[in-house]
Amino acid sequence: MGRIPKWRRVASIPEVTYFKPAGIPARILEEVCLSVEEAEAIRLKDLEGLEQEECAQRMNISRPTFHRVLESARNKLADALLNGKAIRIEGGNFEMVMRPFRCINGHEWDVPFETMIAMPPRFCPTCNTPNILPIQPLGLGWGRRGWRRH
Ligand SMILES: [Zn+2]
Repeated sequence: MGRIPKWRRVASIPEVTYFKPAGIPARILEEVCLSVEEAEAIRLKDLEGLEQEECAQRMNISRPTFHRVLESARNKLADALLNGKAIRIEGGNFEMVMRPFRCINGHEWDVPFETMIAMPPRFCPTCNTPNILPIQPLGLGWGRRGWRRH
């Protein structure tokens, strides 16, 4: 095991995670990759218009770290817009404000960020089975209501 990562707290994940400029052939299309916490930084600062101090608190990071994440995000967006690159939003080092869990018997419940970091759940609170899984936010079938059935 490496060092324990410092989780950033994220309240929402964008529904659309890929943007592509019109009229550029795929073979020459370049892509910038925005992490989920970079998207969250933009959302809090530029969309909700919060002060940096409050943004940092909401994401559970220091103000200098928030500033760095925000600058990186803005830089990538500017690069994509002005140089005609696609934007992909994925990955990163984050935990949801509320992370939904599901057990093998189909019970679902929400675990708050603070609990998730301090002591992740090991049993279903309804039926006590240890066969539980966090409903994954990205790349593993995340949909608006959680985990998508195929
Ligand atoms: Zn259960």
